Amino acid sequence: MSTALDHILSKENFTKEDILILLSTQDKAEKLKIFEKAYEIKLNYIGNKVNLRGLVEFSNICQKNCLYCGIRCGNANIQRYTVTDEEILERVQFAWKSKFGSIVLQSGERDDKKFVDDVDHLLKEIKRTTNNEIGITLSCGEQTEDTYRRWFDSGAHRYLLRIESSNAELYKKIHPDNKLHNYENRINSLRLIQKFGYQVGTGVMIGLPFQTFEELAEDLLFFKELNIDMVGMGPYIEHKDTPLFQFKDSLFSRKSRFDLCLRMIAILRIMMKDINIAATTALQTIDPIGREKALKAGANIIMPNITPLKYRGNYLLYDDKPCVDEDAEECLKCLEMRVHLADETISYDTWGDSLHYKNRKND
Ligand code: SAM
Ligand code: SF4
Repeated sequence: MSTALDHILSKENFTKEDILILLSTQDKAEKLKIFEKAYEIKLNYIGNKVNLRGLVEFSNICQKNCLYCGIRCGNANIQRYTVTDEEILERVQFAWKSKFGSIVLQSGERDDKKFVDDVDHLLKEIKRTTNNEIGITLSCGEQTEDTYRRWFDSGAHRYLLRIESSNAELYKKIHPDNKLHNYENRINSLRLIQKFGYQVGTGVMIGLPFQTFEELAEDLLFFKELNIDMVGMGPYIEHKDTPLFQFKDSLFSRKSRFDLCLRMIAILRIMMKDINIAATTALQTIDPIGREKALKAGANIIMPNITPLKYRGNYLLYDDKPCVDEDAEECLKCLEMRVHLADETISYDTWGDSLHYKNRKND
């Protein structure tokens, strides 16, 4: 017998009310239907394929002070670092030779001239030393129009900038109240990234203090409205040296946050059939096979951490971050096996561009 949930799942577009129903049903059979539908769509549009991005967390120096983040500038309990160019290029060689196809360069936010020039130089070196073969995603926060253009021209073709929450009020609650942490600027940055031709990635943290299901439903509609190409969303996980830690007792349990993340991924896959969705590392913090579960819910990207081991302990965005002491080579073997067990296959030697990006360019 067809139910109200079947009716929602058969719709071309979801309303906020539809999403709220999908997010909150506790009926086991209904939950299963949502995941089955999402996985069916993933198989139809993307196949049972996973693309890899070798993640290099190349600097934890940050000018910002986001209230949730372990590497915020106000946290004096970590050693600040910037990985040298030689070390980064060595890691890029590893990713290239392992046929990852793409890397992500991520860091704290800086917009000084030295940083901008250094990243620019690095991009060119990465392209040169890999025969232009490796795809590059940047995730270095808010930058000027000029910087986004320059980095694009030097070889970066995807940019990941999470909106963190699309709700301006919640955004204000989880950031200091000053010019550096301005909601409108963040939205504007996303528009600039889109304007210069990058594949645009954004995302939110799920299970933040004060966050409601309504806001999460609006986040999904925001992604659709902005017509983004890639999403990386994962659970908010508390960090003891941050101001938001004081709200730790008011949070959903970690397991509930995890379940909510899988649900968000599945609903988004149904809403945006051809985008890239990451199975984020934070999911693995809560469940050792969290990323594999996310693949089954509709995700298609995994970002193995290939940062040199000696730096990883100082890029702790949240407590209990996984893979801090695991060798990338070892991780890869284990990842292959785990992906295989989830009936999925890693696509090697391809950039793994967002189909949505290609489709919107052809429209
Ligand atoms: N600095 C850049 C920026 O903020 O866009 C990129 C690096 S930042 C560390 C990458 C992401 O880490 C942020 O967008 C945020 O969503 C996530 N993050 C930070 N603290 C977190 C926490 N406590 N729990 C979960 N994710 C967190
Ligand atoms: Fe800096 Fe990004 Fe962390 Fe904010 S989330 S403090 S910008 S590294």
